[in-house]
Amino acid sequence: MAEDHDLIVIGAGSGGVAASRRAAAHSARVLIVEADRVGGTCVIRGCVPKKLMMYAAGFAQAFEEARGFGWVDLAGRFEMNRWADAKAAETARLEGIYRKMLADSGVELVAGRARLLGPGVVAVGGRELRARRILIATGGAPAHDAIPGLAQAMTSNEVLDLRELPATLLVVGGGYIAVEFASILTGLGSKVTLAFRDTHPLRGFDADLRTRLATALAGRGITLAGGVALQSLERTAGGFALHRADGSVLTADAALNATGRAPNTADLGLAEAGVRLDARGAVAVDADSRSSVPGIWAIGDVTNRVNLTPVAIAEGRAFADTEFGRRPSRVDHRTVASAVFTDPPIATVGLSEAEALRAGPVDVYESDFRPMKTAFAGGAARTYMKLVVDGLNERVLGVHMIGADAPEIVQSLAVALTCGATKRDFDRTLAVHPTAAEEFVLMREPVRRHGAAPATGS
Ligand code: FAD
Repeated sequence: MAEDHDLIVIGAGSGGVAASRRAAAHSARVLIVEADRVGGTCVIRGCVPKKLMMYAAGFAQAFEEARGFGWVDLAGRFEMNRWADAKAAETARLEGIYRKMLADSGVELVAGRARLLGPGVVAVGGRELRARRILIATGGAPAHDAIPGLAQAMTSNEVLDLRELPATLLVVGGGYIAVEFASILTGLGSKVTLAFRDTHPLRGFDADLRTRLATALAGRGITLAGGVALQSLERTAGGFALHRADGSVLTADAALNATGRAPNTADLGLAEAGVRLDARGAVAVDADSRSSVPGIWAIGDVTNRVNLTPVAIAEGRAFADTEFGRRPSRVDHRTVASAVFTDPPIATVGLSEAEALRAGPVDVYESDFRPMKTAFAGGAARTYMKLVVDGLNERVLGVHMIGADAPEIVQSLAVALTCGATKRDFDRTLAVHPTAAEEFVLMREPVRRHGAAPATGS
């Protein structure tokens, strides 16, 4: 049976675009199928528009701070419509760039919803496309099944398309997308209630970041409704009512379902093709992103490993280098840096204090201060930094920060962590002064020394 292409990629998001371009660079004949807009979640309805909304929200505080620096007459009003128009133009521009990058790489783009007909065969519309290798890169979508009624709420997709700000908003969920939108919408002017099950939001992050974020968000006027199981979301005449296990009811004009995401594996013909899914419906893959069926690979959010754009890109490139470039490579999922774009933002790389403690003795270094800029303007915001260090060999195992510019600072420190830097390496690094980042190289004594002991929590 003739094969028209060497590779068919299903899904032109972060992972699919990266994989297809890298495979084409290795001289493979590549076709990519996209059911929606090129660029996928990150560019069209995720990281990029979210960050543009975060920038918009940040001006409220910047204007406030500016007064402390002598600026006057700074009254302003946010018009969501203007932001929405500018955002739409920017995502269209970026989509154009992605389309051009695919075309310039020699990747053929087919619009439509793809369905596997079996190993090596994909149906799109009325067409049957063939290739020796198929890569599934279909990403994920908001899940609605955490409690009844969630399907009536907005998801991150709709929030990013809002043209009018809700006066009051109920954000359901405690993960990074929930806290980010709670923080952003508060900055823009909504009165936000954040409802989640745990005691603090951001399960999985270092405990000191979680408690400090909760305090900071509450300090900005967000109502943190945590520690109680959520039962159901009801549409009411006035908006939404969230029923909780203790009998309490939280109400708001609008509701955002940010309870998690599910892999896009439905209606892809995976079961018929024999592709094994895990218990959460993600494509089960090995360390080389191979599915259970020879000739079919999967990368990115559809595999539910570490659901972040740089990871999807790295998995896509590793697949292409291995299969088409004779350069076998794998992604190390253990040390993935990440950020939470709240105000104040969080960034983290490596092990939390509790995770490190499970592996052996740990020294913890901390710095907690009011940064120069906010202190001068009379603000209360603080910055907190933590180094989690191996108690035996001084290797830095985790870097955690909450405070202005945390994502920019921790990105650079992730290089040091990847290189295996020790606390001594941090100590012999001279400071850039005056910065907040310099505190990371000025921590002299540990605030805590743990022996090897089993730990609970994160
Ligand atoms: P996607 O980017 O989702 O791409 C999948 C593509 O497949 C889509 O375009 C979809 O239309 C297409 N598709 C699906 N089914 C079919 C089919 N049957 N046929 C053809 N095409 C199909 N990550 C970060 O690193 N930093 C962040 O700050 C960040 N913020 C986020 C904020 C939000 C609100 C959300 C929702 C996500 C965020 N993420 C962030 C996560 C990031 O967007 C994803 O990890 C990343 O987009 C995954 O890339 P992917 O290629 O696996 O899937």
